[in-house]
Amino acid sequence: MEKRSWIRGNLIGSGSFGSVSLANDKSTGRIFAVKSVNPVSSSPLSILSLENEIEILKKVNSPHIVSYIGDDTTKEANLVMCRNLHMEFVPGGTVTELAVKKGGLEERELRGYARCLTHALHYLHSVAGIVHCDVKGQNLLVGSGPDGAKLSDFGSAKYLADVEKGVNLIGGTPYWMAPEVARGEAPSPASDVWSLGCTVLEMTTGSHPWAELGLGNTDVAGLLVRIAYGEILPKYPVNLSNDAKDFLDRCLKLNPIDRWDCEILLRHPFLADMAETDSTGPSPRGVLDWDSEEFGDENEENEYEFGDLEEELFGSAMERLSALCSEEESLEWDSDGWETVRWDLEGQERTESEILDCERGPGESWEMGGEGVSEASGNWVCEEERREFGCSNGDCGGCFYCDCCCCKCSCKVGTVDAFQTRILTETKTG
Ligand code: ATP
Repeated sequence: MEKRSWIRGNLIGSGSFGSVSLANDKSTGRIFAVKSVNPVSSSPLSILSLENEIEILKKVNSPHIVSYIGDDTTKEANLVMCRNLHMEFVPGGTVTELAVKKGGLEERELRGYARCLTHALHYLHSVAGIVHCDVKGQNLLVGSGPDGAKLSDFGSAKYLADVEKGVNLIGGTPYWMAPEVARGEAPSPASDVWSLGCTVLEMTTGSHPWAELGLGNTDVAGLLVRIAYGEILPKYPVNLSNDAKDFLDRCLKLNPIDRWDCEILLRHPFLADMAETDSTGPSPRGVLDWDSEEFGDENEENEYEFGDLEEELFGSAMERLSALCSEEESLEWDSDGWETVRWDLEGQERTESEILDCERGPGESWEMGGEGVSEASGNWVCEEERREFGCSNGDCGGCFYCDCCCCKCSCKVGTVDAFQTRILTETKTG
C-alpha cells in the first residue's frame, strides 16, 4: 500500500462502475481527477472495468483523450480500501450536460465537439488498435471550448486484437449501441462510428437517440430488440444543416461495412470545412480557483465515506437509462424530395450514377493494381507522379484526396475505396 501523496476532494461524478473525485497532489498542488472503486466490496465487473481502464489509459496518448497520471491503492477513512485511477481533470462537465442545459448545441459547437470525438476515435482505431465501446455524450468531457473536448471512460474499451481472439467483455450503453452489437456481435471501429453518429444526434437535441420510440424508462429489452432487429434508424431533427445530415448518414448505416471510417469522416465537410471555432466554452478552473475547503485533511474522518456513496456508485444500468429517458415528442424528419449528389474533381455536382463514370480522375483511366497503386493493398501511394490526378494545389503532392487541402499528401496514403466514397452531400432537387 502506497503512502498517500494526495488529498481527495469533492465528488465530481459517478457512473455505474466508479466514483470520480477531485484530488490535490500534496507536493505539487496539482489538481487531478481520481476514479475509485472499493476492491473488496465492489462488483467484480466494476473492478475489472477500472483495471481495464488503467491499462488502456496508460498506453494511449492523444490531445483528444483524457490523460493518465497514475494509479494506486489506498486505505481511506474508516480503513476503506480504494483502487484509484488518477487522470487529467477536465473542468467543463460532460457534453451531455451542456446539450441538455442548452436544449441542443448550436451547429458551430456541434462541429467542434464532433471533430474532437472523431479525432479521438481515429487515433484509437488506427494508431492504438482499440475500440472504445461506450461512445456517448456523457463520456465526452468539455475542456476549453469546443476544440478541447476529451474522450473518457475506457472501462469497456478493448484491443482489436483481443476482439479478434473472441475476448468480448460486455460493454456499451443501449441507446448509443450499434445494431450488430445489440445483436451480440463483436464490437468494431464501425460500431464506435455508429455511436459517434448517435452522440452527434444527442448533441443536436439534448436528448438521447431513439427518443421518438417513446419506450419509457425501463424497457431496456424492448429497446435492444428494436435497435438490433428493427432495421430502423434514429430520427434526425428537422433543423440540421445538410452537412450535418450527410455526416450522420455516413455514420448511421445499418450494415457496419457501409459506415465511413474516422479517417474519411475527418475529411467530411461537416468537420473538415469548420472555420476556427471560438473558445466560448466554460472557462477552465485553475488550481487557484479551488479553496482549501474543497479538500479534506487526509486524517479527517469525513474525508471520504465510501458507504455514503455506494448508492450513487453502483446504480443499475436500468437507473442510468431511466435518467436518460424522457417522454418527449418525436421529431419529424422528412427525406422526401432529397437526392444524394456528390462533387466531381472539377467541382461539378453529379448524381451518384453520373459520378461513377467520372471517378477515374481528369482524362485518366485507372484500375486497382495499375500504375501508382499498391497491388497488395489497393492503396494509392502518394508520389510525385500521381500529380496528374487532379492536384492543382502546390502544397499537396497529388494524392487522390488532393482536392482536400488538409491532406498533406506528401506522407499520405489514400485508398481507392475512400476516393470513391469521398465527400457526398445532400441537395434538394426540384
Ligand atoms: P459509466 O456509467 O458511463 O460506465 P463510469 O462509472 O465508468 O461511468 P465515468 O463515466 O468515467 O464513470 O465518470 C463518471 C462521471 O465523472 C463523468 O460523467 C464525469 O462527469 C466525471 N468525470 C470522469 N472523468 C473525469 C475527468 N477526468 N475530469 C472531470 N470529470 C470527470
